[in-house]
Amino acid sequence: MLIELLDIFINNIIGTAKWVLSNIVFDVPFSQNYFWGLTLISLIVWSAELCFPWRKQQAAFRHDFWLDAVYMYFNFFIFSIMISGIYTVITHMFYSYDVTMQAISIIDIAEFNPVAQLLIFFFVLDFLQWVTHKTLHKVPLFWRFHQVHHSIKEMGFAGHLRYHWMENILYKPLKTIGVMLLGGFEPEQAFIIHFFTIVIGHINHSNLRLDYGPLRYILNNPVMHLYHHAYTLPKEHRYGVNFGITLSVWDYLFKSAYVPEKSGQIKLGYVGDNNMPTSFGKQLVHGFFKCSKK
Ligand SMILES: [Zn+2]
Repeated sequence: MLIELLDIFINNIIGTAKWVLSNIVFDVPFSQNYFWGLTLISLIVWSAELCFPWRKQQAAFRHDFWLDAVYMYFNFFIFSIMISGIYTVITHMFYSYDVTMQAISIIDIAEFNPVAQLLIFFFVLDFLQWVTHKTLHKVPLFWRFHQVHHSIKEMGFAGHLRYHWMENILYKPLKTIGVMLLGGFEPEQAFIIHFFTIVIGHINHSNLRLDYGPLRYILNNPVMHLYHHAYTLPKEHRYGVNFGITLSVWDYLFKSAYVPEKSGQIKLGYVGDNNMPTSFGKQLVHGFFKCSKK
């Protein structure tokens, strides 16, 4: 059993490493190429920031730009290689105990037309990520990991993927349950959603004054998300506001939306953010040990 699991683990790591490499060398069609897709989206949003900046004084290479660039590729590729083996082993163990995806499914979206499949999949997963995000703010141990993302002091597109590697793990349980509720089904075109969420996530963190007018009640946007990163929170929302990932509708429905003004000139961070180490290496282990100073 142990040898078998080890074998699965190693094969999976090699498989994911090969997948990442095939992305980089263009062995994967461009429409499904995560490496070049992420790079292209980043260049487009960055160019938009430079042409139409919201905070005009912000430098092109803002504070921590390169740190965030490292995070972007680390979280997207290096980490996925390291962790994928572990997930496959866990999934394998689940299956050997006869827990199949169908066991807890509530609807079978495989029967629906492709557009409906994509929309249901997207709404369910976005809601579960909203729940996870709110939990990261409320549970002290999780919040210590999430502080890395909230240590952004100047907001720009690349801040989107500055997050502690533990978040990849913390987001996983609810995502997996979501997929199980939908009968273990991941639409064939799910990559469209992945790219859409990267685009919206990049824009949400960008230096662009966008709120999409009436659509702001549905779609998360830079004006709303900047307040998610506000240093000073309103008294009635001491754990945070605007937890939306791609959609803002959950914050409006559950009364955690807060956008008092749109100048873009607010102090970012959290109380105690001066304790956050500035180097990537030290941030990797941040959260595992309680910090001494408050
Ligand atoms: Zn947050």
